[in-house]
Amino acid sequence: MQSLWNDDEASQYPGDLGQRIYSSRLLGRDKSLVLHGGGNTSVKIRETNLLGDEEDILYVKGSGWDLEFIEAGGFAPVRMAHLQRLAQLLALSDPQMVNELRTHMTYANAPTPSVEAILHAILPYTYVDHTHADAVVTLCNTPSGEQRIRDLYGKHVVVIPYIMPGFDLARLCAEIFPRECGEATRGMVLMNHGIFSFGATARESYERMIELVGMAEEELTASKAWFVNWPAVVPDARPRCTELAGLRREIAQCIGAPIILHNVRDAQTLGYARRADVELISQQGPATPDHVIRTKRVPLLGRDMAAYAAAYQCYFSEHAAQSREPKTMLDAAPRVILDPEFGLCTVGRSAQDAFIVRDIYQHTIDTVVRATQLERYQALPARDYFDVEYWDLEQAKLRKAGTPPLFTGEVVLITGAASGIGRACVESFLARGAAVVGLDIGAAVIEVSSKPAYLGLVCDVTDAGALEQACEQTVQQFGGLDMLVLNAGVFPGGCNIAELTDAEWTRVLRVNLDANLAVLRLAHPLLKLAPRGGRVAVIGSKNVAAPGPGAAAYSASKAALTQLMRVAALEWASDGIRLNEVHPDAVFDTGIWTDDVLTARAAHYGMTVEQYKRRNLLKAEIVSHDVAELATELCGPLFAKTTGAQIPVDGGDARVI
Ligand code: ZN
Repeated sequence: MQSLWNDDEASQYPGDLGQRIYSSRLLGRDKSLVLHGGGNTSVKIRETNLLGDEEDILYVKGSGWDLEFIEAGGFAPVRMAHLQRLAQLLALSDPQMVNELRTHMTYANAPTPSVEAILHAILPYTYVDHTHADAVVTLCNTPSGEQRIRDLYGKHVVVIPYIMPGFDLARLCAEIFPRECGEATRGMVLMNHGIFSFGATARESYERMIELVGMAEEELTASKAWFVNWPAVVPDARPRCTELAGLRREIAQCIGAPIILHNVRDAQTLGYARRADVELISQQGPATPDHVIRTKRVPLLGRDMAAYAAAYQCYFSEHAAQSREPKTMLDAAPRVILDPEFGLCTVGRSAQDAFIVRDIYQHTIDTVVRATQLERYQALPARDYFDVEYWDLEQAKLRKAGTPPLFTGEVVLITGAASGIGRACVESFLARGAAVVGLDIGAAVIEVSSKPAYLGLVCDVTDAGALEQACEQTVQQFGGLDMLVLNAGVFPGGCNIAELTDAEWTRVLRVNLDANLAVLRLAHPLLKLAPRGGRVAVIGSKNVAAPGPGAAAYSASKAALTQLMRVAALEWASDGIRLNEVHPDAVFDTGIWTDDVLTARAAHYGMTVEQYKRRNLLKAEIVSHDVAELATELCGPLFAKTTGAQIPVDGGDARVI
């Protein structure tokens, strides 16, 4: 375990809170210490308030903040005096505790303090760091875990037996810690949960965390339990697209909502799912309570949908029995599937959710296998996880989630996504909660969005092999395909028929027509499996209804594409797939329309650029966003009963009307 502390970097974070931010980010950068908002840190600072009184303030991580990216505003300032008195209470319900924390902050707009705030307050050190380090929870989750921890750390840490996070845990620590801490104490282990370190400076507390966790790693290494050898993976010869999409559809039917299904088939996940003892070692709870909400208690083994439905029913009735308000169906969905052919599949309401489950479960796999190599993996009894799962505070979080965006759990593929209308479509679909795969021949497609719900793939749509690979990647990333936007196309320079060469004609038709046939053909079996029915939006052109001279190849290609769309609407209606088309005109915020080209074209018509842009009946300027919004809505409920339709987005054109 390496310390990442760097004096030069640290000096850029002035003040006690600055140092707190810096070392919190260092902890957050190491995924073997904290994952996705896990762990928390604090610093105690003496401040003078408006009335001139001095008071001690605990700056503790706010809930919802990730240590890796935390800023000053991510810490909640809570009055120490009140926290210390709360710790003396005999009992306090968790909702009451949160109320006390929130009402004793010195800044009204601060985030809600971590539920571990009281615990931080009772530790008599300026800086306190808390992680759910893999190595420490691995040692804890073995039959002789507590003895191992005591033998390893001796007088250096105080050991607290497992108790659910919240007020009772803080109270237990308030009782045990002062009794057992001594000169040599530099940390505290919460059994089956994680580890605390503390110090007078941010660096001391951080370095102690690294040292203590490093000791656990060394212990595991010395016992030949730390390194895991996975058998090499033989690359999958046959495509798995429709099998995976079929699994996703069955899960979606089981829980009554579309979901994202993420698949990892690598040495670790396949190696684990194929272990002879997987049934024995994988069917226990997670390594730390922090993970239970995300991964549920145990993974499902194999693709047995009857077992999935049974697990769902079990969670669902537990939810119904435990909560005062109805839950959304997805809260009860099992999140992890292990399969000898698929490796690891994770289920989420959004791509982000599915990826969080993946990250956590990959760490769980390591923990389980390391504990098995050391002795035997032995998690807490199911009852303890049940308590965490139906914890008042977690339930409150779920209730707060609200109505999800329109395309939550759905996947769209957009061709020509690097610029113009395609790029605008990426934004419109992301804004409605869809997971988006963008294809483009240009490398810029990779960078169109940095959101986890976006995957940009460089792909020449006229290359059948590349298209097939893109489909496979789409399904592995998100589980299937619900919607398709056919946008990629070329707009060649003007050329009259008398001069039009066969080569140019063929080139335009290959991209604007043939490639779209290939995409439709490949997408069909996937769209058929879309839980809410497949949808296709085609980006056509005004030229279909009102062609212009000098654009024979372009106009013919778009007219043929339109006819293709209409025939597909006839053929695929029985598969629940609908196709509709938008016909844009004069969209100038795209790559081909540089300022020079615009100026030249406007001059050609004797107009200013402004006049030229708005030469339609409504005198409206049409931008990529307008076209993208319409194409996106065509895939939504507004057009649920429409197929084979063509809608202009051109500001009104007398020739089209
Ligand atoms: Zn914790």
